[in-house]
Amino acid sequence: METARLIDMHVHMVGNGGGGSGGWLRLTGWHRWLAGFMLRQLGFPSSALEGNLESIYAEKLLQIVRDSSMDAVVLLAHERVHDPDGTPRDDLGSMFVPNDVVLGLAQKFPEFLAGVSIHPARPDALGELERCLEQGAVLMKCLPNCQNIDPSERRYRPFWERMAAAGLPLLAHTGGEHTVPVVNPAYADPKLLRFPLECGVTVIAAHCATKSGAFDPDYFDDWVSMLGEFPNLYGDISALVALNRCGHLRDCLRDDIEPRILHGSDFPVPVLGHRMWLQGWIDRATFRRCQGISNSLERDWQFKRALGFSDEIATRLGKLLRL
Ligand SMILES: [Zn+2]
Repeated sequence: METARLIDMHVHMVGNGGGGSGGWLRLTGWHRWLAGFMLRQLGFPSSALEGNLESIYAEKLLQIVRDSSMDAVVLLAHERVHDPDGTPRDDLGSMFVPNDVVLGLAQKFPEFLAGVSIHPARPDALGELERCLEQGAVLMKCLPNCQNIDPSERRYRPFWERMAAAGLPLLAHTGGEHTVPVVNPAYADPKLLRFPLECGVTVIAAHCATKSGAFDPDYFDDWVSMLGEFPNLYGDISALVALNRCGHLRDCLRDDIEPRILHGSDFPVPVLGHRMWLQGWIDRATFRRCQGISNSLERDWQFKRALGFSDEIATRLGKLLRL
């Protein structure tokens, strides 16, 4: 029997449109500092921000995947902010990674799977969904609170039903966010995902609805109680090996929760296991071994394995994604 592939289902594509993709990156203040920090820890010069970032980033990332335990990663596009009437709001938001960027990379490299991103209020949303399905999208990612999407709006029913019929899962950001500007904090609530779930969509709540900043609401318990109600609901533990988000990471090992956990890193978000060690979840030697791994995809994976997660969090994606 062929062994199941290990898949990291939450890896961001980053670009600035330098290669003519139509994407853009606009960073100010804290977000500019954070982007520079993330690029430097990956070994890029900060000047990469001014060059053809798409191609520099994709090439480096491909190497990182090949040097890790992962067989493939879902590479995520990033939709623009839109008003509820479908008008793009390029004055809000900090980046745009068009679907064609990830669809093209996925066609070229088996290590990359295309995670597209479509605001369902766009006038051409259904057409774009169809186009992405034809070109091999494996999931659809959105950040309701950052892209201004209320997933519970009844007029999105045809969009969710088409995703359900096509077997395309929805990866939706839940909980607070500090890497990308938040437009509507109320849309961080996983309960708004009840509607796509009722429409039959497989929904993956990114970060299991945990809080990001100290003053964010924590929706973890709401997400857990929804698991009992919806067999088509999952959660990813991306960005949970971090100083701010790791509070519920060990809870995700519980027998009632673990079968619904999926592996994602949230690359290029930094992987910092210090709090796991300080709280006594792992010993000092394990902490030092994992934190010392320079490949951050691998570092994230090794911290999760050390905490007790099995390969299944990465292999069960083989059955959920539209492969
Ligand atoms: Zn993310």
